[in-house]
Formats: sequence, structure tokens, C-alpha cells
Amino acid sequence: MLYRKMKKNGDELSILGYGCMRYPKKNGLIDYKRTEKQIMTAIDSGVNYFDTAYLYPGSEKTLGKILKNNDCREKVKIADKMPAPTARDRKKMDEIFEEQLDRLQTDYIDYYMIHNLIKFEDWEKLKKNGILEFVNEEKEKGRIINFGFSFHGNLHNFKKIIDDFDWEFTLVQYNYIDENYQAGTEGVEYAASKGIGVIIMEPLRGGMLVDKLPKNAKKHIEIFDIKCSPGEWAFRWVWDNPDVKVVLSGMNEEEHIEENIKAASNAFPNSLSMEEKEMLEKVKEEFKSKIKVDCTNCAYCMPCPHNVDIPTCFSSYNDKSIFGGFRPLGMYVNATEDKSAAYKCRECGICEEKCPQEIAIVDELKNVSKSMDHWYYRAIGKIVKFFIYR
Ligand code: SF4
Ligand code: SF4
Repeated sequence: MLYRKMKKNGDELSILGYGCMRYPKKNGLIDYKRTEKQIMTAIDSGVNYFDTAYLYPGSEKTLGKILKNNDCREKVKIADKMPAPTARDRKKMDEIFEEQLDRLQTDYIDYYMIHNLIKFEDWEKLKKNGILEFVNEEKEKGRIINFGFSFHGNLHNFKKIIDDFDWEFTLVQYNYIDENYQAGTEGVEYAASKGIGVIIMEPLRGGMLVDKLPKNAKKHIEIFDIKCSPGEWAFRWVWDNPDVKVVLSGMNEEEHIEENIKAASNAFPNSLSMEEKEMLEKVKEEFKSKIKVDCTNCAYCMPCPHNVDIPTCFSSYNDKSIFGGFRPLGMYVNATEDKSAAYKCRECGICEEKCPQEIAIVDELKNVSKSMDHWYYRAIGKIVKFFIYR
């Protein structure tokens, strides 16, 4: 495992961070035994940064239990998040934070952040609500060690927020498709120039750079002289940036954990060759030409008051464009049934305010509906569903 040093506090963090958003499940519940084994494998292999959030169901509690049961709280840094819209006053902030410490069975949180800032106004509102007093007091008590924010807005807002406070770290979306999107390369460089530790989320763009690569994009990877999996190339591209400290991976499959740990053993900054970068540029072009909606499947837009399953609508629509055939239709019909299909959208717009990718959800759902909701497609979908899922 390689480590990179945080400028402001000297912490040596593993370049691979463990995203605790989706643990493996069994009968719809977190599979504790399997999760414990996976997390302990990661710790034993040198991973020392674990990212959870108040809003990830069961995540804090499970992580806390595993660290306690295996007596390894001191071996790792815990990153946790305060949900921005819920932090409406000081009392609520205190309540949430106490609950987080309790769930994690710990006395302190190493990297504490505001979850999902999008606009500078969101930050201004939090300051009015008392976030700075809260953080300063908790820092004095030694219960918050470092303070930062996760971000999904545009570069302009990112720079304004960076300039407004003496942040220790930030968590941003970054991958070879999103080089110039949200904070992007310029934002990463800007934060790093001020000594702020940059942690990366979505290096695989919600898994799309592994499962959803179009055939022609995959081909560029397959015929390339150096053999690496699509996931490994995506990680290597992010790690190549010397301004990046930790790259999070939401790992819940043993083989992915093994592969990521292996990749993190030799991913040095500035190590990608010109040929490797050019190959990834070609993959990116192919990907961009096929993707219909830039949805990362994060589900922040949910729930929809009219029951539309927005992420599934978009992933099926993208699948239809990338892979063709009837299978995406079967999956769409199976996942949405009639009650949560795209045509159920009543255009209230609530979801659009919550989407970090700023997707015009209402318009895109109309496109999905046009493409997927014909009665004969739904009939074919039902037949495919019958054969696939019976
Ligand atoms: S705009 Fe449509 S999809 Fe979005 S919340 Fe409203 S009804 Fe649901
Ligand atoms: S539409 Fe936006 S908020 Fe909803 S899942 Fe996609 S990226 Fe996330």
C-alpha cells in the first residue's frame, strides 16, 4: 500500500480509501460477517481511511462495531459527514454529532465534513446556523480533528467555498470522464495549492467506468499493450494526479478489494505514460458518445413524491444506448413496473434541486419515456423479464 502525506497535519493516508456506502447484504440486511471480513482484509493490507456518513443506512454502526470488536480504532482514520440540510440549528448539529459518535463507538472523528455542498449559499446558510461555533468547540474538545466538506457543485462555487475558510480537506468527484466537471482538475489543483488535502469520490463514476463501458471503449483497453482491468485504469488515472491524496472506493466484492489493494501498491503520482493517457482519452470519447444521461446513480434525487425510480430510468436508458438489445428493456420493466416508470413524472421539479450532476431530470425523463415506454416495448420487456427473472 502506498501512502500520501496530508500537508496540514502530516497524516500519512493510504491512497486507497474505503467507501462505506454499500456493504454487502444478505436477505436485504447488511451481512455483518462478510463486511467484517472485507474491512479487516483492507486494514490488514494497509488501508487506513474509512469514509462513512450519517445518511448511509447502517454504515456508521457497522463500521463502529467492526473497529471495536477487532480492537483497531487507533489503526484507522474515520471520515464522517453531517448532512447539510438537516444541520438547521446548533441543537440539531449537536444531536447528530452525538449520535454519530455513539453509532461509531468512538470519542472522536478524524475527518469530519459537511455532506454535499453545492452552492456557496449553502455554506453561508450553515454559518448562520452556527456550524463554525459547533466545529470550533468540538475541535477544542478533541472530538473533531480535521474539518472539511464534500462537494458536488460547479468550479466557481468550489473556489468561493475553498477561499472562505481554513479547511483541512475536501472530498470531490473526480475521474477521467469528469476532468472538467464540478471541481475537476482545476478545482483539485486549486485546493491543493492552498494545502488542503484532496480526497476523491466516484473514481469509477458510480461503477459506470467498469460495467457500462461501451464495447468500442473496452476494446481500446483490451488491445492495449499493458494489461489492466477497466477499473484499475480508472484508479490509476486519478492516482496519477499528485494533488490527490486518497481515492475512495465503495468496495463490497472480495475480488474488487483484492484488485484495488494490488493497484494501490504501485500507483505513483505522474507515472502514466503519454500512450496510456492517450488510450484513456479514446475510451473517454467512446463513452461520451454513447451515454445519454450523465447520471451517477447516487440516488440523491430520491424519493420522488410520484414514485418515479429516477436512477433506474436513467441507467436502463443508458444501457439501451450502450448495449442495445431487449435486455435493458426487461430490466427497466422489472425494476420500475408501471408504478415507477418515467411516464409517471408529474414535472414537480423537486428532484432537480437535489441532483449534484445538475441533470435536467424532467426533460430527460421525457426522453426516457419516449424511448422506453411504448406499450409494445413494455410488452417485450415483460416477456424478457419473464425469461430472465422467473
Ligand atoms: S419532477 Fe418528476 S421525477 Fe422529479 S420528483 Fe417530480 S414527479 Fe418525481
Ligand atoms: S439523477 Fe442526479 S441525483 Fe438522481 S441518481 Fe442521477 S445523478 Fe444522482
